[in-house]
Amino acid sequence: MKVIDSHIHCGIQNSDLSFEVIKGYLTGDIQGACFYAPVEDIYDRYDYRFEDTPSWMACRQRANEYLLDIQNANEDIFAYFFVWNDFRKGELKKGYKGIKWHRHEYEPVYHYDDPKCEEFLQEIYRLQLPIVLEEPFKNTRYFIDRVAGRTPIIIPHLGGLNGGFSTLFRSGIWDDETVYADTALASTREMSIFLEKYGSERLLFGSDFPFSTPQSELYKVESLNLDEKDYQNVVSNNILKLMKVLDSD
Ligand SMILES: [Zn+2]
Repeated sequence: MKVIDSHIHCGIQNSDLSFEVIKGYLTGDIQGACFYAPVEDIYDRYDYRFEDTPSWMACRQRANEYLLDIQNANEDIFAYFFVWNDFRKGELKKGYKGIKWHRHEYEPVYHYDDPKCEEFLQEIYRLQLPIVLEEPFKNTRYFIDRVAGRTPIIIPHLGGLNGGFSTLFRSGIWDDETVYADTALASTREMSIFLEKYGSERLLFGSDFPFSTPQSELYKVESLNLDEKDYQNVVSNNILKLMKVLDSD
């Protein structure tokens, strides 16, 4: 079975995370991956007041296109479009398999009220692209209220950087069946609690490379001793269905 790591950062401008480097980590069962640009290629994360500039727009464009080129040349590599405030909806139909939407507290904010944001979301709904959403808790709630049910949403790290697993779990955000989670950097305890309540069809294996490695994160999932079907869902089938590489049953 092909294991797909659903959360890997890949980019060569302000980070040294080339496909050549990452290839070395895609070993054993791990044969495929979803690639997002590193945040450092998307906006100036260290300046809360940062506003967009032409050179950042160009950098962002190159970062996303780099992944699209890799996808086009490699089976089982899937490119995500990392969106920022230029909300280039015209890019989405170029073949991206998902969207990365990412911000931490004290980083510059997304312009949710910009009409271009709504148009961008409408295009995502039309294409049914999954969105990996990392935002602090308040914005996560806001985003889910606005978007859930219209396209799938993936909460990375089982919520570790969206307000924490327990906060999200208690708030019931995963009661919505279109909201998923990935395992990157989460504890096996959190994975077990999630699986116990929601079953295996909405949890996705991911590593958040370079913050961890695909192999060490996969060991955590293996240590849960899931039955064959559940394991397959988590490490492969769920993400492939979300990207419509596999038919949903
Ligand atoms: Zn990440």
